[in-house]
Amino acid sequence: MTPIDWYRVAYPQQDGYDTKVVSDAAAQTYGFVPIMDLAPAPNWLGGRIRLANDIPAPGDGLIPAPFDHQSLQLAERYLQWWPECGEQLKALVKLIYIFDWPQGVGARGCFCGTPPRLGSREDTSLFGEVFSTVFDSVGFLEGVVHEMTHWKLHALGVHFEEWDDRLLLNRPEEVFESSLRKDKPRPMGAVLHAHWVCLHVLCVDMAAAASKCNGCPKGDDAEHIAAAVKRVKEGQATVGAGARWTPAGAELWRGIEDWTADILSVAEE
Ligand SMILES: [Zn+2]
Repeated sequence: MTPIDWYRVAYPQQDGYDTKVVSDAAAQTYGFVPIMDLAPAPNWLGGRIRLANDIPAPGDGLIPAPFDHQSLQLAERYLQWWPECGEQLKALVKLIYIFDWPQGVGARGCFCGTPPRLGSREDTSLFGEVFSTVFDSVGFLEGVVHEMTHWKLHALGVHFEEWDDRLLLNRPEEVFESSLRKDKPRPMGAVLHAHWVCLHVLCVDMAAAASKCNGCPKGDDAEHIAAAVKRVKEGQATVGAGARWTPAGAELWRGIEDWTADILSVAEE
């Protein structure tokens, strides 16, 4: 077996290298079968990802969304500005449950998660199944990429409160401040999840902003991006100071840090 180049697992690669690493890991852990064909209708993203809306609403006030909701087309357009992520979604996300939140029309953001079909723990759901709301088109894509990012780390053996010894050496009892959940200190697994999610979501925000006005975020988008940049910097500081890595983990983190520097140099222009 060729050793994994963990540096290249840090962010979606043009040649799909990291997607393959995650997909192979998911095949072992979750019995994941890589998606090669078009999904049966209704579907999204060039027909590659199946859509559904028939699970019980995962939150108060959420209702099933129509499969022709315009946020789906808009999100597809945003992904043209981050094609590596689009390819990764096609390969790793197999089913999106879509919901609308009528009170949220005009607001930014989303509700997202993994469907609780097989239990309440993320890692007992079926790999690559997610739900996201569509009331905000950028939020919809943020939600889908957010959940894909969680799935990637789960596949690589890092869960919120426990993990194997491939990447992280911290003990689950050691806790740190998470960039997403400020209510209580969290183990390093959860903190790393939050930080990696924030990085991916910042890239979604930048792609969406670029798509809307050809590369010049302004107004709401600029504000949203500034908030995301702040979360990324907090996460980077916490993980950088607190994580103890294996050699493989250190390579992954080096890749994440370089990716972060690249993203921030664009985001802060
Ligand atoms: Zn999350």
